[in-house]
Amino acid sequence: MKKPTAAYIHIPFCSHICYYCDFAKVLLEGQPVDDYVEAVISEFERYEIPKLRTLYIGGGTPSVLSVKQMKRLLSGLTASLDLSKLEEFTIEANPGDLSEELIAVLKDSPVNRISLGVQSFNDKMLRRIGRTHSSRDVDLALERLKSAGFQNVTIDLIYGLPFQTLEDVKNDVDKFLSLDLPHVALYSLILEDHTRFMNMQRSGMLHLPNDDKNADMYEYIMGKLANSGYQHYEISNFSKPGFESKHNLTYWDNEEYYGIGAGASGYLDGVRYKNHGPVHHYLESENKRVSEEKLTKREQMEEEMFLGLRKANGVSIAKFDEKFALKFEQVYGKVFNDLQKTDLINFDGDRISLTERGFELGNEVFEQFLID
Ligand code: SF4
Repeated sequence: MKKPTAAYIHIPFCSHICYYCDFAKVLLEGQPVDDYVEAVISEFERYEIPKLRTLYIGGGTPSVLSVKQMKRLLSGLTASLDLSKLEEFTIEANPGDLSEELIAVLKDSPVNRISLGVQSFNDKMLRRIGRTHSSRDVDLALERLKSAGFQNVTIDLIYGLPFQTLEDVKNDVDKFLSLDLPHVALYSLILEDHTRFMNMQRSGMLHLPNDDKNADMYEYIMGKLANSGYQHYEISNFSKPGFESKHNLTYWDNEEYYGIGAGASGYLDGVRYKNHGPVHHYLESENKRVSEEKLTKREQMEEEMFLGLRKANGVSIAKFDEKFALKFEQVYGKVFNDLQKTDLINFDGDRISLTERGFELGNEVFEQFLID
């Protein structure tokens, strides 16, 4: 069986908890971080991975590791890898954590892409959503990354935040454009259970833009970034040509990948699995996994469509036919014919993709591809 060429490593520690966050994370203070780093390296080694095309360290906040822990993690993960095959090695970082010393450690490793959790350039907004960095920290981090020679830097921004106006979104997008970075991920705020924001919403204390305002923001973002030379290559992701996230494209291409660390998900040999989330459970468990699900062919086909249609270039029917050894028309002929009568999809003779309107209404299209 072909081995995956992508691996995700989860570092769940955060120095603070943001009000909207439902990721697998835990407050850093008092955590057994050294033991955790060793456990992650052991889990990685158990897979005997000779080479990877993409490696991604996410969180949580990987940049809260000390210089010593970061050195150990990076050397442990890359010790037996054929680095000539590693095209993209991303690490997520909080702007306030990027000291010159930490950047020097990253620069001295095969890491070649930095993903900064900026979220907004507006300090008031940052405080309102529970972030502890400031826009000055972002500027400083970007200056340091640039002088260290990191060119492939992406930032995350969120829109649809409490009390946010279209003008605020325009300011964030303008500031992003002034930085001349090659990539940005722009997410709409999603209210998740067990977050401070959800509790505030339930007690009527959260003032979010309504659906119309959110749609205006999304349309503005799409238009402005497209006119500024960015390709809208995935529902929430924009890049200059050649700077698409190779790692994330693995997910959207519905390919398999290793998921390593507490709370990480992976996809191997047709099985989607999840590791134990709480750090102590993860450290104590022998095989690390808390759940496994062997996907049926039907589920695999559904995922091929949901994930593939997130990309601007959509899904190839020829590839679908070959991958599942049956004809696309047999499975989705009726859905496809119905969707062709709408303004939600494009079809170029092989690839089905979403129109801009389809991107806006993504979930409505995806659910059509659920097989009864
Ligand atoms: S959003 Fe990121 S930094 Fe904030 S709590 Fe969640 S994982 Fe940690």
